[in-house]
Amino acid sequence: MKIWLDGGLRDADGARVSVFDHGLTVGDGVFETVKAERGRAFALTRHLERLATSARGMGLPEPDLDEVRRGCTAVLDANPMALGRLRITYTGGLSPLGSDRGDNGTTLVIAVSEAPRRPDTTAAVTVPWTRNERGALAGLKTTSYGENVVALARASELGASEALFANTVGQLCEGTGSNVFVVLDGELHTPPLHSGCLAGITRALTVTWAGAKETDLPLDVLERAEEIFLTSTLRDVQAVTRIDGRQLAERPGPVTAEAMRIFDEQAAADTDPR
Ligand code: PLP
Repeated sequence: MKIWLDGGLRDADGARVSVFDHGLTVGDGVFETVKAERGRAFALTRHLERLATSARGMGLPEPDLDEVRRGCTAVLDANPMALGRLRITYTGGLSPLGSDRGDNGTTLVIAVSEAPRRPDTTAAVTVPWTRNERGALAGLKTTSYGENVVALARASELGASEALFANTVGQLCEGTGSNVFVVLDGELHTPPLHSGCLAGITRALTVTWAGAKETDLPLDVLERAEEIFLTSTLRDVQAVTRIDGRQLAERPGPVTAEAMRIFDEQAAADTDPR
């Protein structure tokens, strides 16, 4: 397995990042997960733009996006696989513990692993913890993902694959690693970005391609939605067939099935440069 580190390809075995790396000690790093089918990264430009946005939001130095793109291509070429999960991690780099960030550069790691095919349907639960839509990290894709890890563990205990958060004012926000869409009276809605959700790339494409409305939605909308689905880089569009014990139709409903069809069709035509 080859990874990208310190500006070049390295063997993953033996590649080193300092134990004093900011990303490890205080979690001030940002990341992207990119889907790669047969060596081709999907929507890479959007992912690179979001990496830079997250880095800015965290006060990290501007990442060199040309290097990140070069690194992604090199890693994909060096590790051929049918369906890959490309992970780009960018941190504040080496600094003495507890001090301000020094000028010791940043850390960029790019790696790829085999991604399992996600099923078309899944179960989700809501969790009692809230997303802080006014927090410093709202909407940023940072390595400070502990809250998501805890919520996902709760979902897993309850036999679900995703946990959904409300924000501090009780509005539906997002999942631990996905955005959420609901069908109400036959119309497709998703929470707006001011709910505190991540500006998901699959979400943005689905809003455009499937014509969803961005609407403030109270959490209890999940109790009456006719259909619910999740979007994310590795899920694409995934139907929720059980929410907090409420069984929805066993198969994706008509609006979800159409969103899936449109997404697959448009994604296949993606012409993002490598
Ligand atoms: N929300 C959170 C918190 C995420 O971590 C992710 C995925 O990585 C998403 C939403 C979905 O975003 P995307 O479609 O860009 O993968």
